[in-house]
Amino acid sequence: MSSAKNKRPDWRFSLRLALGVGGLFAVAVATIYFGAGTLLERALAREEASLVLDRSEDLRLAWRDSRSEGLTNFLKELETTTGEQLAIRVEAADHSVIFHGATANAPDAPWAKLDSPSAEMGGGVHAADGWTATTLALESGEALQAARFSAVLSDVRNTYRGLFTTAVAPLLLAGIIGGVLLVFVALRPLRRTVAVMHHIGGTGDWSARVTPPKARGELRNLAEAFNAVLERQQRLVESLRQSLDSVAHDLRTPLTRLRSTAETGLAQAGAESAAREALADCLEETQRVQATLDTLLDVAEAEAGAMKLRRENIVAAEIFSEVAELYEFTAEEKGAKLEVRAGPGVEFAGDRVRLRRALANLVDNALKYLGTGRSVVLSAELTEREVLLCVQDDGLGISAADLPKIWDRLFRADRSRSAPGMGLGLSLVKAIVEAHEGRVEVDSAPGRGSSFVLRLPRQPVAKASG
Ligand code: ADP
Repeated sequence: MSSAKNKRPDWRFSLRLALGVGGLFAVAVATIYFGAGTLLERALAREEASLVLDRSEDLRLAWRDSRSEGLTNFLKELETTTGEQLAIRVEAADHSVIFHGATANAPDAPWAKLDSPSAEMGGGVHAADGWTATTLALESGEALQAARFSAVLSDVRNTYRGLFTTAVAPLLLAGIIGGVLLVFVALRPLRRTVAVMHHIGGTGDWSARVTPPKARGELRNLAEAFNAVLERQQRLVESLRQSLDSVAHDLRTPLTRLRSTAETGLAQAGAESAAREALADCLEETQRVQATLDTLLDVAEAEAGAMKLRRENIVAAEIFSEVAELYEFTAEEKGAKLEVRAGPGVEFAGDRVRLRRALANLVDNALKYLGTGRSVVLSAELTEREVLLCVQDDGLGISAADLPKIWDRLFRADRSRSAPGMGLGLSLVKAIVEAHEGRVEVDSAPGRGSSFVLRLPRQPVAKASG
């Protein structure tokens, strides 16, 4: 709707980056946590395996010396000395159990699970339910199974699992939140740069600059380089404008001379002569070029803040009628309906001549870019602080890509090039409205038509001022 399109910041890249950083952090923490857990468990299991292998060696010696009695004594000694929890089984060659014993503090050993020792942990050791067991083939032909119970592994495992909720999960959460914030803060200069680009694209205000971040680094370099480019661009645009203005200015005098020469020649030429026709054409063309130069200079003057206004009381219905009258014939010729909708109560202060010119430019455009539309409506509205002058048509409309550019000097949409014009009309409209400290708005879509609104601040009516 507004001539300076407001673009909302787009957070999608920040979001993707934040998710990426958060995800990586989560994967890193999870890998460390589970990796360290596995390593710890393996180390403890190896320790248990070496202890049970030591014990089985002692038991082999005890069996060799005094068979069952030797084993029973060994268990008793363990109970009184180390307090270890050990269970022993000796099987004959026919698998009948010929000895079975355990220290008093040991729970029942799950022999069924411990039956098949594997070499996983070294030395043919098997583990299940906190038990670690090994089987030895004795010289006398029997098999001796020794199993050692230890709660250390399960205790460590439980403590380690507890660590997840007390330390790892909060760390993970803090890390992800921190990462997300970091990404959003780090990308702020980029978002500012984009906002400045949108601002320039929407308003043509080349004076906008990006505030560089305080910290040295790539983003500050980017902001500074971007500002340097803007600086250059601004100087270029200004010098182009100045050149255009001075060319317009310099052409004024020779054109005035040309015009008066043509006028004098015309006055002296005979009524039917070919020279008279040529001079009349010459005069007409000169007047057209002069009008273009005047517009260019008016725009330049207004943009430089030097446009002098003669404020007076204006009745909207009256100024609309004056403009409508001016275009009555053109509208009729094109089969269009020019309608004025303004009650007599809409009055405001402004420069009548300039505003009439601005409105005339808008009506001229509406009739120029009619397409299949046939209606042009001029309407006015008073709000508490503003007066709104609106010129609406149902003609060709303007594409979204062209909308921000139509206020630029010499801009003409590609498809409008066949119509007469220099691309100065709207820049003059904008300049006049801004000289009144107002602003212009446009709402347009191809095929739907356009609605131009001049929003002027309401000011006390002045008699006539310079
Ligand atoms: P000109 O009419 O001389 O081309 P303007 O500055 O008046 O220049 O307008 C700039 C461009 O804006 C036009 O070339 C045209 O493409 C577009 N435009 C302006 N008014 C309308 C309108 N009422 N309907 C469609 N397009 C318009």
